[in-house]
Amino acid sequence: MSWPGPRMPEGDTVWLAAKRMNQALAGRPVSRFELRTPTLALVDLTGATVVGVAPVGKHMLIRFEDAAAGAVTLHSHFRMDGSWRLSRPGAPRGGGPDHQIRAIIDNADWQATGMRLHDLSVLATADEHRVVGHLGPDILHEDWAGAGVAEAIRRIEANPARAIGEALLDQRLVAGIGNLYKGETLFLERTNPWTATGDADVPRLLATAHRLMRANRDHPEQSTTGRTARGQDHWVYGRSGAPCLRCRTPIVTAYQGDRAQERITFWCPTCQPGGPQAP
Ligand SMILES: [Zn+2]
Repeated sequence: MSWPGPRMPEGDTVWLAAKRMNQALAGRPVSRFELRTPTLALVDLTGATVVGVAPVGKHMLIRFEDAAAGAVTLHSHFRMDGSWRLSRPGAPRGGGPDHQIRAIIDNADWQATGMRLHDLSVLATADEHRVVGHLGPDILHEDWAGAGVAEAIRRIEANPARAIGEALLDQRLVAGIGNLYKGETLFLERTNPWTATGDADVPRLLATAHRLMRANRDHPEQSTTGRTARGQDHWVYGRSGAPCLRCRTPIVTAYQGDRAQERITFWCPTCQPGGPQAP
């Protein structure tokens, strides 16, 4: 199995990728444009100008202004393994073999190569709601402290019987949290993943998730412990069978969620009592 990979594509990963892509591409004309997916292979935005690159939860929106097509957006999702690579012309891009390339957007100084991207689509910028309109408030959006957090709390608490570990991953309730930050947040707040949402302190959990993701969004590491050594950078995520960094109890795992969305969940049975019987 390949999980957990070197970096999980959660909201902070997309935020950092969008920031770097924006710095490299925004305001500049596209010198080469290719989408290597059958239904989009004929889309050509060569000569268009990149208006900006925006993260929305775990989605990325690359906006163009094109003389023929007008204001259009390339939408992509990283899922478990996608990434964008930035390299200088002629330099090795890394990131995997050529057959995993899904998109190429070059300008005079930069090559942006999209590897293993999912849910690629091109649509009018005015229609972006069709691909991101279902999402809850983005935990890394600048408006999070304003209207965002209150709306996320309202959406999560609307279903008090649901397990909190599922609710935190539901992108329709709050956008950006993935399996890593879900697990680490629940550990730090001593909350079992199977706790009913109505029995959990949702505002406190969201504040912790926000703090962790905010702390990691500007650099490639995803440390929740303040340490970066392998096996020490997370409290529970990816540490099945290893001793809890707080109490030495072995970390346990189980699948949680409906089949399509089910994810492995890590927790410490001593620090986070409750939930299913330990396997
Ligand atoms: Zn523990």
